Amino acid sequence: MKWLLRKCVRCGRYTLRRDRCPVCGGPVRVPHPPRFSPDDRFLIYRYLMKKEAGEIPP
Ligand SMILES: [Zn+2]
Repeated sequence: MKWLLRKCVRCGRYTLRRDRCPVCGGPVRVPHPPRFSPDDRFLIYRYLMKKEAGEIPP
C-alpha cells in the first residue's frame, strides 16, 4: 500500500501533492519517521500485546 499523504516540512501542512506544498511551496515528505520499518512497527505491536497480557511487568 502506498502512502498518499505528504507533509510539508516548512509549514507542517498535509497535502496530497508529491512535489511541493501548495500553500508555501516548501518541500514535502512522507509524514512517517523513516527509521520505523514495518518490521519495527510489528515489534512494537507485539510488545504492546504482551504488555496488555501481563507478560511484561510495567
Ligand atoms: Zn508548506
